[in-house]
Formats: sequence, structure tokens, C-alpha cells
Amino acid sequence: MAIRNIVKVGDEILTKKCRPVTDFNQRLFTLLDDMHDTLAAAEGAGLAGPQVGILRRLALVMVEDESYLEIINPEIVASEGEQEGSEGCLSVPGKYGMVKRPMKVTVRYQDREQNWHEREAEGFTARAFCHEIDHLDGHLYTEIVDGPLLDTEEAE
Ligand code: ZN
Repeated sequence: MAIRNIVKVGDEILTKKCRPVTDFNQRLFTLLDDMHDTLAAAEGAGLAGPQVGILRRLALVMVEDESYLEIINPEIVASEGEQEGSEGCLSVPGKYGMVKRPMKVTVRYQDREQNWHEREAEGFTARAFCHEIDHLDGHLYTEIVDGPLLDTEEAE
């Protein structure tokens, strides 16, 4: 297990479309384990492959119980409603902005044992799924932000 470097905005790797995961092997498990460590250390809500320099369709997303769910080859198969809320990204440090997302989504994905799952999510979790899956298609929230990109306050 190790903490990997997080790719920052301006690096063209964040603009590329990722390819599906096809090899479910030890290399993939090590990558996912490292992503858990990296995300926990950064205290983020999600982390996608390209953010650690890997152009494959995989991500971690913080779910309702605040654990990180591994999603491999994920796809949003249904969405409903609309919400607007603040969003940030570990690849765009020190910034946040308001983004419209669906209120509810259904995501289909594989786990590391290659089993397929379908999961419904609402509110913050739905937002996190959308944000991470956008990364896999080379998109950042900054492209769809409503209004200005704001600075997070240094002091808490
Ligand atoms: Zn992000």
C-alpha cells in the first residue's frame, strides 16, 4: 500500500477518455489499494483512475456510510431530478463551485471480483458518482460550474 501522486488540472491526462478495465489481476488490486490510501490521506470524497495517472475506467466513491466503494467499468444507467450544490476536486486544489447534478442516479459497476452490481444513490452520493464517472470521460466539474470558481478558505 502506498500513497500515489494526485495529477493536477493542466495535465492533459485529465482530459482523456479512459479505456475499460479488462485485467482483474494483482496489479489492479495494488492500484485500488493505493487509491484507498491516497484518498484517505487527502480526505477526499472520490478519486478516479486518471487522477493517479491511470487511464482506465475505475474510481473510488465515498458512499452513505463514509466508506469508499470501488467502482470498476461504471456506468450511469438511470438518473432522475436535479440538485445544485458545491463541488470540489482533489485535482483542482483550493477551489470549489456550484454544479447541477441529478438528484438520484442508478450506477452499474463491477467489483474487483468482476461481479456486476447496480446501486441507487441520492443527494451527495449521487453527486460523487457523477463527478467520478465524468473523470473517466476526461471531464472536470470546472467545465460545468455555475458561476465563478471560488477559493476555499485557508482557515477553518
Ligand atoms: Zn475530481
